[in-house]
Amino acid sequence: MSETTPIPAGDLPGAVRLRVAPSPTGDPHVGTAYMSMFDLAFARQQGGRFILRIEDTDRARLQADSEQQIYDTLRWLGLTWDEGPDVGGPCEPYRQSERLETYRPFVERLLAAGHAYHCWCSPERLTQMREQQQRRKQPTGYDRMCLGKTRDERAALPGCAQTPVVRMLIPDDVETSFVDLIAGRIDAPVPDDQVILKADGFPTYHLAVVVDDHLMGITHVVRGQEWISSTPKHLLLYRWLGLEPPHFAHMPLLRDEKKAKISKRKNPWARLTWFRENGYLPEALVNFLALQGYPPIVADNGTEREVFTFDEFAQRFEWSKVNPAGSMFNLDKLDWLNGVWMRELEVGDFACRLLPFLEADCVLSDNPSLGELARLRSVAALIQSRMVKLTEATDLVAPFFLSDDMIVIADDARAQLDDRSAEVIDAALAVLGDIDDHGRGLLGSESDWSAERIQSCLREAIVEGLGVKARVAFGPLRTAVSGRRISPPLFESMEILGKTSTLNRLQALRETL
Ligand code: GLU
Repeated sequence: MSETTPIPAGDLPGAVRLRVAPSPTGDPHVGTAYMSMFDLAFARQQGGRFILRIEDTDRARLQADSEQQIYDTLRWLGLTWDEGPDVGGPCEPYRQSERLETYRPFVERLLAAGHAYHCWCSPERLTQMREQQQRRKQPTGYDRMCLGKTRDERAALPGCAQTPVVRMLIPDDVETSFVDLIAGRIDAPVPDDQVILKADGFPTYHLAVVVDDHLMGITHVVRGQEWISSTPKHLLLYRWLGLEPPHFAHMPLLRDEKKAKISKRKNPWARLTWFRENGYLPEALVNFLALQGYPPIVADNGTEREVFTFDEFAQRFEWSKVNPAGSMFNLDKLDWLNGVWMRELEVGDFACRLLPFLEADCVLSDNPSLGELARLRSVAALIQSRMVKLTEATDLVAPFFLSDDMIVIADDARAQLDDRSAEVIDAALAVLGDIDDHGRGLLGSESDWSAERIQSCLREAIVEGLGVKARVAFGPLRTAVSGRRISPPLFESMEILGKTSTLNRLQALRETL
């Protein structure tokens, strides 16, 4: 443990300093990204710093891979921190379990000043006490059995544990109201004699958060409204310790469509990894999270916009505009935003975003060739405007990477074929067979095998020649080349597949009719 004196808060870098302080107790919660996005927006706007602190004092709920998942998901969203356990910084260490020695002197000071006291009550005794209070319809809270007692005095009474905890002695006239950057003056409930040091020697959240926010020079604490009831305790600790408190901004809670606070147990999308797995773009999720607590931004031309980049948001962000009531999590809205953001991407970038999904579904290997990548780019341009989520890519892209004999005709596609399908395919085979595809791909030479040419030949032969309505004429051809009833645009698909593949696939379906 380093014994270095902490840098005075005023000498730490950054005009403002904000932090997100997740506990690594499982799959990261979407709330962590939500807080981080507001933290980072304000920090960037003010030329400040954004700090990631890992609050791992709850040893019972710790999960080994959770910390890494926090790093991965926040980085995926582009919500990157200036200081943190993995990147270091002037207030190291940034993991609370590595700061145990830091908290002790603060506890000693509180004990010496009479603001805190030892409590030996065993967990069983506390449970009994609580049950009794509930039966008697009394307010629940610690009954101060240990207050003012020495260890020996306490040991003479029942329900005494070996190792004591340390509790705050909440004064009767505790100030329970405070000013919040978002909601203005807030009245919180009177706190209980909160435990600040546990029997295992670890501080509780309440002590650690105050000590660390102070030592790390945090100027603005941004956290969910569920922490409002804790703030009076924190303000007491600041006062007792003679420390300047930060500003507080309690963010509206993320709520599900039934207005209930979202939880990982009830809502799969409370897990941050869910969005990545389900094909959402980080740009869309960041935009969506901003809208959970903030109105549409006003663009330079005065119009309101729901679609905005993180930078646009950060430039315009104001605490007073955060909506304390929040809004409900609407996944349809997220889908819409995702589609919008998908269409915004440069096509090469869009193709890259598809890769992990195509690799996971074995459409492509994890080391695709240049030829495969070029083909993917062409396909990406065809499907970019038709997709809502990246997870839809596999179905649309796979036919372009399967060998011709691997095309399986889906049942619903086959069901749509009718007695004229054979005739249509024969006509297509004849007319497409005549298109010259020489020179395809050669520099400076144009092949005739182009979507435009394919389209005009097919129209002439099938719609005009056979008199089949355009709406139904191309169904069998689409089914032949993709195996599906719905596919990317047909003529462009044929161009990408090339003449040989197209004819092979038409021929294969024809033989089954
Ligand atoms: N560790 C707390 C959490 O998991 C942090 C709360 C705060 O930001 O003060 O949410």
